[in-house]
Amino acid sequence: MTNTQGWPGFPQRVRIREVGPRDGLQNEDVVLSTAEKLCLLDALGATGLREIEVGAFVRPANVPQMADTAEVFAALRRRPGVTYSAIAPNVVGARRAIAAGADAVQVFLSASESHNRSNVNMGIEQSLANVAEMAAIVRAAGRPFDAVLSVAFGCPFEGDVPIARVLELCGRLLDLGAGQLTLGDTTGMGHPLLVRQVVIAFRERFPRQPLRLHLHSARGAGLANILAALEQGVSDFDSSVGGIGGCPFAPGAPGNLCTEDLTHMLHEMGVETGLDLAALMDAARMLETMLGHTVPSQTIKAGICKHLTG
Ligand code: ZN
Repeated sequence: MTNTQGWPGFPQRVRIREVGPRDGLQNEDVVLSTAEKLCLLDALGATGLREIEVGAFVRPANVPQMADTAEVFAALRRRPGVTYSAIAPNVVGARRAIAAGADAVQVFLSASESHNRSNVNMGIEQSLANVAEMAAIVRAAGRPFDAVLSVAFGCPFEGDVPIARVLELCGRLLDLGAGQLTLGDTTGMGHPLLVRQVVIAFRERFPRQPLRLHLHSARGAGLANILAALEQGVSDFDSSVGGIGGCPFAPGAPGNLCTEDLTHMLHEMGVETGLDLAALMDAARMLETMLGHTVPSQTIKAGICKHLTG
């Protein structure tokens, strides 16, 4: 492998969890039909992705884009080896996710009190009690229960979030049996130095615990933050096809990190992803047609470098 030459600490291989069908579509004004979602999921499943966030079991009145998640799961053409996950905000959602056949269930907690209250209208302690109940349901069904800690790199209401607080909440979530932890830069407030500091602190506190990052590019720092994490050996990331979603502040603005842009950068550096970039770009273009507008992806605008010179 060439990727570690000149860049010590880099992982040889990165695993990407595709979050576009949930985190992406949830933030789109256009509500895709169940058939369109199935088409998108089929295209994504053919790109080599091993984990896809299919949808959310939330109140349809709150998030109409996710109202048909159970129907999507029921009709999903599952590819062997692919984990099709869902998110659940509460016990009812966790039960629905299990009943629908989600392979894994993600629960969310915010690293700041204000963001947690704004998100789920309750304090962090009450949320942790809920998470404990959800964890019991998911684990009793034999499925992995994964936890996402939102606003771990900065809160739009409170500003800086102390790293000690992030680590404390990670510990609480692990105590509740979280199989996997994801730290979210939910509104794109992180920067490379902070990512480096958080990852180093996490590794010192939880040396054997794998870490996944869910980074956003709302202020353009997404791939720079990825690089800072790669230097620390992080090899699990979330991203969104076309770069859709993640609460962009203006139409066409980046929110979620774009799967094609991330994959392109990794491939150019010789880091394996197992993904077919051309197929990912086809999926992103199909998504543009479905949504009726362009997506933030830079790679589908500029093309794959290696293709430019044949
Ligand atoms: Zn996101």
